[in-house]
Amino acid sequence: MHPLLTSVIDLLFPRKCPICGRRLKLENGTICMDCLSTLPHTRYHSWPGNPLEQRFYGIVPIERAASYFYYTPQSHAHKIIHELKYYGNALMGVEMGRCMATHFQIGDADFFEGIDLIVAVPLSAKRTRQRGYNQSAMIAKGISEATGIPLGNDSLVRTVDNPSQTRLKDNMQRWENVKGIFAVNHQEAHRIEGRHILLVDDVSTTGATLSACATTIKEAVPNCRISIATLAVTQR
Ligand SMILES: [Zn+2]
Repeated sequence: MHPLLTSVIDLLFPRKCPICGRRLKLENGTICMDCLSTLPHTRYHSWPGNPLEQRFYGIVPIERAASYFYYTPQSHAHKIIHELKYYGNALMGVEMGRCMATHFQIGDADFFEGIDLIVAVPLSAKRTRQRGYNQSAMIAKGISEATGIPLGNDSLVRTVDNPSQTRLKDNMQRWENVKGIFAVNHQEAHRIEGRHILLVDDVSTTGATLSACATTIKEAVPNCRISIATLAVTQR
């Protein structure tokens, strides 16, 4: 779009940062730089054996796992997740995916080294219709755009429309709720064979959903490797 036209549109329809409510500058994405820079970063991407990785110990073997920021109530992080899940802000998912990918490449080790395919945790068809999109797929799209690693979201499907994990407060219920609800799409299984997959989710609370996905993939295609990236993570 012509820069002058962009300025006119911005003048007529000023955009606001959904997190702090301040007016967005032309060069900003869907969230302002202040909000982006004050997110509570976990730095898990350069912390081998971090608390997210520990959630999978003894359950399913993974290569590495990292989260972009901590999920704390009534915080910027909380607002971002709500925008993404409940206010139809799909673009924010893509943008946060891109920001996370850039952030994960800061430091000595490249978190994405050797990863062949990005797979988002699937939503049920019903939930995807209701929301209009799968929020994890939006994050995965952003990571793919920033890294050039292809998306393989069709490789994994959700076979059961289970109740939302967020309504279950009890950890045991959360693990039971996701048992056996995912399956590898056999037509796409060849794309996973011998590959290193990055599983992507919006928030990890107990690790139950990601464990269920990773276990399903490992059982169907034992020779693949799995790493994990989530936008947010709760602290226990
Ligand atoms: Zn802001």
